[in-house]
Amino acid sequence: MEKLYEGKAKIVYQSNEPDKVVIYFKDEATAFNAQKRDVIEGKGILNNKISSIFFDLLEKNGIPTHFVKQLSDREMLAYKTQIIPVEVVVRNLATGSIVKRLGIQEKTPFEPPLIEFYLKNDQLGDPIICHQHILALNLASEEEIETIKNLALRVNDVLKDFLKKLDIILVDFKLEFGRKNDGTIVVADEISPDTCRFWDAKTGERMDKDRFRLNLGDLSKFYEEVLRRLSYAKS
Ligand code: UDP
Repeated sequence: MEKLYEGKAKIVYQSNEPDKVVIYFKDEATAFNAQKRDVIEGKGILNNKISSIFFDLLEKNGIPTHFVKQLSDREMLAYKTQIIPVEVVVRNLATGSIVKRLGIQEKTPFEPPLIEFYLKNDQLGDPIICHQHILALNLASEEEIETIKNLALRVNDVLKDFLKKLDIILVDFKLEFGRKNDGTIVVADEISPDTCRFWDAKTGERMDKDRFRLNLGDLSKFYEEVLRRLSYAKS
């Protein structure tokens, strides 16, 4: 297969259908703009399986995504999209970068949820930007930004409610959006413990990439537990 793109955690290949790609999930873990790196055996498999379940759930709730189907342990078939270079972060509770940036209390709830935009640019360290910057840099139209915000909030509602039943608190997460050939905006990239913060509702344990960022250990064990609860909910 022709390689179209290789990122930190995934490789994108052209599939045998022109409008679709195969996304291969690698085991590489990076944090702090790739200053911290490691390989965690099996992480790619867990993220592919977890992402596939989440995308399937969003589709069932009428939210358009790039997801077509899970192909194998490490591969997903998806529609080819032009990725909008903006990381969209939705926050239900304050933690991570916002606590440091704004000096607010850890776990402060955001009601309604907070939406933030970051420019997807490793060289610049993904700076935070606002609506006006997206327009000024010509990254998306006014109408597209509105669509993205609405979709981000709908994704939050669906995931938050679903995870709550599994005793998982959806603290925050990052989404990427793409344009399909016909211009439709869809949720793209991945939705996994690498891109979300999940806290165990009973124990408060972190079940996400913070285990790697903060050197808490046992990352695979907790990703497996997330997958186990999701699989249980599906069956
Ligand atoms: N996030 C991500 N990729 C990034 C930055 C953030 O997936 O490049 C996710 C992160 O896992 C968390 C949310 O976005 O669920 C908010 O992250 P935050 O801004 O607090 O950044 P961090 O504390 O990771 O620097």
